[in-house]
Amino acid sequence: MPGTLITSEVDFDVDGKHAGFLRLPHSTHRSAYGWIPVPIVTIRNGEGPTILLMSGNHGDEYEGQIALTKLCRELDPGDIRGRILILTMTNYPAAEAGLRTSPIDDGNLNRTFPGDPLGPPTQAIAHYIEEVLMPMCNYCVDLHSGGSSLVYPPTLLRGRGHTPEESQKLVELQEAFDAPYAWVFTSGGGRQTTARTALGAAGRKGVVSIMAELGGGGAVTPSVLALTERGLKRVLHCLGMLPGYQADAANGTRELRVQGSVYAYDIGVFESFKELCDEVQTGDLVGAIHHPEEPWREPTIVQSQYGGIVLSKRVQGRVERGDCVFQIATDWE
Ligand SMILES: [Zn+2]
Repeated sequence: MPGTLITSEVDFDVDGKHAGFLRLPHSTHRSAYGWIPVPIVTIRNGEGPTILLMSGNHGDEYEGQIALTKLCRELDPGDIRGRILILTMTNYPAAEAGLRTSPIDDGNLNRTFPGDPLGPPTQAIAHYIEEVLMPMCNYCVDLHSGGSSLVYPPTLLRGRGHTPEESQKLVELQEAFDAPYAWVFTSGGGRQTTARTALGAAGRKGVVSIMAELGGGGAVTPSVLALTERGLKRVLHCLGMLPGYQADAANGTRELRVQGSVYAYDIGVFESFKELCDEVQTGDLVGAIHHPEEPWREPTIVQSQYGGIVLSKRVQGRVERGDCVFQIATDWE
């Protein structure tokens, strides 16, 4: 292991289903020789690709945590070909607390890669994923949602690929996941990427990787969860790793590119004039920030400098200057 202090209770090279913890040493007041238990499940059956399925990278994003927990219990080695590595609570301290960032070190795992093996827990987890797990993998799926502050329609996120083969595979994975929307990045990725995300870590190790924004608002809906579970199985099937699965007809995915975010420029209570996926024209008034502390004051108007559709929307009413209230995206073509 290149410098990591994390040890795995599961052997990655043995057929069968294995469950245990990645032990991250963490010496504290109440536990001098303690460790942080990052749950891991591996399912392996002979030759085939290796895929890493992750949720709880941000701890307040629950759709993926439920879908992967169910998958861990449901899949048997005989169902699959190759090897599946599953991290249900990737940044365990954050996921245990139901927070985006770790309460131990304030670390935002998806802004921490490539990490530091000797750094605080979030740094050590990032390093382990990038330097130990990613090099074993051909594919990675990192499941996110809008978390506590945003909500999205179910959206797959991907790069455009750095080789014709990678581009083709990313399109196949997108079609397999079959979310109603895809946010296709215009730049980044590849071996040279400096992105601090799990997608960046995958890119540096040559792993074909997608992520998803599945909903959010700190909640889970039956329809989005069903779409997530179906998408995961369709992805495994598409890669030849779940041969017995009967994939139904795809619904199709609308490819988008994000134009930018609309921000609050005042403090107060935000009133949105738009719902998710509503059309917005450049210059439209899309919301107002009210000032109930001084109810005689006119609200601060929020204007969109972008045209397109609302891809994400702020959840909480209270806003401060600098808070993202919308992301606006347009059709890729
Ligand atoms: Zn996230």
